Amino acid sequence: MSALSITRGRFQIALPELGLFIGGSWQNGEAGATFPVFDPATEEQIAEVARASEADVDRAVAAARAALESDEWGRMAGTERARLLWRIADLIERDADRLAQLEALEIAKPVGDPRNIDVPMAAETFRHFAGWADRIGGQVIPVPDFMGRSRHCYTRREPIGVVAAITPWNAPVMISSWKLAPALACGCTLVVKPPADAPLSTLHLVSLLDEAGLPDGVVNVVPGPGSSTGAALVRHPGIDKVSFTGSPEVGRGIAEIASAAFKPVTLELGGKSPQLVFADADLDVAIPTAAISVFANAGEVCAAGSRIFVQRQVQDQVVEGLEAFARDIVVGDPFAEGTTMGALINQAQLDRVLGYVRSGEEEGAQLVTGGKRLERRGYFVEPTIFAGTNDMTIAREEIFGPVGTVIPFDDPDEAVALANDTRYGLTAVVWTQDVTKAHTIAARIRAGAVWVNAWGAPDPRLPWGGMKTSGVGRELGEAAIRAHTEEKVVNVVL
Ligand code: NAD
Repeated sequence: MSALSITRGRFQIALPELGLFIGGSWQNGEAGATFPVFDPATEEQIAEVARASEADVDRAVAAARAALESDEWGRMAGTERARLLWRIADLIERDADRLAQLEALEIAKPVGDPRNIDVPMAAETFRHFAGWADRIGGQVIPVPDFMGRSRHCYTRREPIGVVAAITPWNAPVMISSWKLAPALACGCTLVVKPPADAPLSTLHLVSLLDEAGLPDGVVNVVPGPGSSTGAALVRHPGIDKVSFTGSPEVGRGIAEIASAAFKPVTLELGGKSPQLVFADADLDVAIPTAAISVFANAGEVCAAGSRIFVQRQVQDQVVEGLEAFARDIVVGDPFAEGTTMGALINQAQLDRVLGYVRSGEEEGAQLVTGGKRLERRGYFVEPTIFAGTNDMTIAREEIFGPVGTVIPFDDPDEAVALANDTRYGLTAVVWTQDVTKAHTIAARIRAGAVWVNAWGAPDPRLPWGGMKTSGVGRELGEAAIRAHTEEKVVNVVL
């Protein structure tokens, strides 16, 4: 265990409980094993977190199963679950500074970002799903008589059961809320596997769930590496559904294991999202927003608009604007006043991003700005813009770093063809002031979410998910209620 609090600039950040949370209590792993957590901005170790073994995962799943079958949770009225979800949102707001500081510390994002975006969004997600908790019902369906006797047929939506929630490190508070809130609204129980690189904010979030009064075992947390703790959770026969956000490579492995056991999965995977900037766009808005969508969270955003297709007659203007925006970004200490971009998560991610920069140069893309590591401790890289083509590796693979590629097009058909020429399909942005063009292009793009003239975080009221390699299924909105319930038919012959 490391210090109980960490000082960064003027912030004194209280660390959360650093253990497993099983059956309503914080505990060390059965084997007493731990793993270190590092601050990507300083490369220093900041905490030592208990590491869940396969036996710990087994206990967590058993606790979740017992809670699912308990009268206290299983028979709890929807309005009572709603009250708990609402209370969780209040506690998230009460601890917004601490949650934001923990997230900024563990993933080195400027502390104002989680304070203004991720944490309020998490609270809003719990409030939205509080509204669902007492209105998850079925239908009465008219059917013909059965062997001469009339029938009353109806459906019930029942909790899908024990959910394994596996989350990535890039936005842990927001993404874990997307999984927790709908599952709890539906009456499920969960075992959460937070990201090994950034478990701290999730651990504090879970302590708030406990403080709100969730019955023991409804939410359990098993920190640890994906390859051991995460894999044990996915394989566990007591898991009824896997809700995973992360890379396509890991997602594929999870889908294979889950499909062999006929378990439903929700997979929120990567992206290589296009932005289509037409010559008639309001460039004063399009250019800075396009830049933000590439550079937000140092590019570690699944929905990053990293392929920027620009109609040829405004290409120079857009490239110059993006370059100017990139040069104005203040890269550095996430807790310093004025920092607008932090560090990448770890050395591997830094190597990966710099490797893509090299591949861009080798394949003949023009480096407009950036491309280098900062000469200081921490995994900092410069915001980077290339001018290139859609067949280059930098335009085909998810970089998950602050690297965007500008690619010219001449007409709408070419723009759509280029945008769809990718294995991904998470999001897209259309920049135009022509309303007909906006709607027709939005309909033609193969992506789960299309923004027109803006870009932002997912909204808890709207379904969220990808097509093709970007995922299977949808989170958030009504889709999340369907994804966490089983539909049962009751056929009453009168
Ligand atoms: P990752 O796939 O390496 O890890 C995600 C989670 O899965 C972590 O908790 C990890 O420990 C766990 N894990 C790893 N191997 C596992 C295994 N064999 N079995 C079970 N669990 C395992 O992804 P990452 O590097 O943490 O996150 C980056 C990726 O996530 C990017 O591809 C990004 O686009 C994607 N992402 C998608 C969304 C979305 O909503 N579509 C949101 C955020 C991030």
